[in-house]
Amino acid sequence: MKKHNFSAGPSILPRPVIEKTAAAVLDFNGIGLSVMEISHRGKDFQAVMDEAVALFREILDIPDGYEVLLLHGGASMNFLMIPYNLLQNKAAYLETGTWAKKAIKEAKKIGPVEVVGSSADKNFSYIPRNYEIPADADYFHITTNNTIFGTQIREDLNSPVPLVADMSSDFCSRPVDVSKYGIIYGGAQKNVGPAGVGFVIVRKDILGKVERDIPSMLDYRIHIENGSMFNTPPCLPVYTVMETLKWIRETGGLVKMEELNRAKAAMLYDAIDSSSMFAGTAEKDSRSVMNVCFVMQDKYKDLEADFLQFAQSKGMVGIKGHRSVGGFRASIYNALPAESVRALIDVMQEFEEQKA
Ligand SMILES: *Cc1c(COP(=O)(O)O)cnc(C)c1O
Repeated sequence: MKKHNFSAGPSILPRPVIEKTAAAVLDFNGIGLSVMEISHRGKDFQAVMDEAVALFREILDIPDGYEVLLLHGGASMNFLMIPYNLLQNKAAYLETGTWAKKAIKEAKKIGPVEVVGSSADKNFSYIPRNYEIPADADYFHITTNNTIFGTQIREDLNSPVPLVADMSSDFCSRPVDVSKYGIIYGGAQKNVGPAGVGFVIVRKDILGKVERDIPSMLDYRIHIENGSMFNTPPCLPVYTVMETLKWIRETGGLVKMEELNRAKAAMLYDAIDSSSMFAGTAEKDSRSVMNVCFVMQDKYKDLEADFLQFAQSKGMVGIKGHRSVGGFRASIYNALPAESVRALIDVMQEFEEQKA
């Protein structure tokens, strides 16, 4: 049976990317060796790193003055690296979910943090809009897409201080004006690759302003000086990220990604909104194009386990909601085809016809 992969992360990758990775694991570029068993400092792997960085620059139209890093540690390592590198006076954070809270927790270990807005009062079902960013903050941190709660900041915000964005789960889902950000970072495993590598796009002139002595592995400037090879990089994940970025380019770039993603999300949200059994959990103007969270309406609550089992029997994978929201979550990242969304809607409608 065909599987439809709605996993939140690690998540679906384009099939041609998986096939190219499989081939490179067996024999990289016809050199008779695996991409996993060659020196990261040799010309064969250096070409992979260089091309991956060049693709980031091209696809995101990254302006001069920015550096691209591919590092171990995922998004979570950056929760700590960001305050280490930027926090001198105080930092401003927007609290929009579990990942934002984790970022705040790490920053507080380094210096004063002001939470300028929060949606904790309604279980993170919306994006706060009326808040002020203090002009004396060193930076303002946001989570653009809240993977667990299914909410998203869909525009590039204006900030009087460097804007730092965790884009783990909506990176490359739409064109972004990089010039509005000081740092864009995330783990690759939601939308641009496998687990094991994180990306950081950093405007160089915001670095070097703190007084503390930064441990080498946490210092963005050290990683920049060493071209992401201060230590051995995650070679295989970097290879797969490179192939994923090529796939994005071949598919039509970020304008096309956004068009496809919006169409998929509209189809699924319409089905949820017109259903008399299911209901969305996020407020409409805050809904994510990447992670669609929904539950059973109150009178059908006891059917959630049945639906999950029914959907699984029809090939739906990874649709159980996170325990902090309950219900269901369909992650509909770049690589998920519209047919899979269609298939999920069919399963929902079939279940509703049987049980309602
Ligand atoms: C998954 C996720 C993370 C955690 O990423 P790691 O690479 O596991 O550290 C952080 N932020 C967001 C928004 C996520 O979706």
